[in-house]
Amino acid sequence: MIAVTAARRIFYRKMKTALFIAPHLDDAVFSCGGTLARLASDDWQTILCTVFTKSVPRPQGFALACQLDKGLSAEVDYMKLRRAEDCRAAKILEAGEVLHLNFPEAPHRGYESAAELFAEIKTGDEIWRRVAEHLALVEDVRQPDLIFVPQGLGNHVDHRQTVRAARHSLTIEKICWYRDAPYAIRQPDALPTDLPIDDLSEMPIDISPYLECKIAACAAYASQINFQFGGADKLRDALQRFHLAEALRLNANFSLAEVFFASSANRFIFDKRKGAN
Ligand SMILES: [Zn+2]
Repeated sequence: MIAVTAARRIFYRKMKTALFIAPHLDDAVFSCGGTLARLASDDWQTILCTVFTKSVPRPQGFALACQLDKGLSAEVDYMKLRRAEDCRAAKILEAGEVLHLNFPEAPHRGYESAAELFAEIKTGDEIWRRVAEHLALVEDVRQPDLIFVPQGLGNHVDHRQTVRAARHSLTIEKICWYRDAPYAIRQPDALPTDLPIDDLSEMPIDISPYLECKIAACAAYASQINFQFGGADKLRDALQRFHLAEALRLNANFSLAEVFFASSANRFIFDKRKGAN
């Protein structure tokens, strides 16, 4: 009888699940790809879910400029190309699942310059409400143990809309808030504004064994790394320096860290490490 019970326990054992929410195709991997790789190697089910991924045919004006300045012609389906990059990055990190929620990026919602991407959210841009509905559905179906959400550092409107949607729709106690890269790399002292972090503390995660994996995954976003980092060599240099500085900043007893605002309960879940209950 005892043996049967034990067997049942093993049979019903559930893998732990981590859901990574990215505003754009690259944000979660740039920001916390090392943590994703680490959880995947610890037998967690990992889901890489990106919000603003919709292809928009025949882009005009600023939306068109956003792909021309990446060296891509007007005929290229820019978001299709980026979704493929995301799938390659996910494969490198051994993410278990990739979700693309198919919402249009800000340049397709009336934001007409780089300055507007980092200014006030436009009146009438209520996209966070529909994003919230979709995020709630993803959580309901996938039942994650931890959810990784951006802090909104850098103030990009799509990041802020994602944060707002997450706060309204996801189980807040499950959220570990990640530092948006490359914004946090450019401004290491940046702190989140308007987030419910009073009862949270910064949690450094050791990504030392996974840095090379993270760099390779970030490099998979080939259309972005020149624009965001100045090329592959500078990407490597920026990540090495940043994660070293993050570990030093929090006096961690390891050399390379990704840092999250997290509750002690979430820290406990993370520290159990192995993916099965
Ligand atoms: Zn972004």
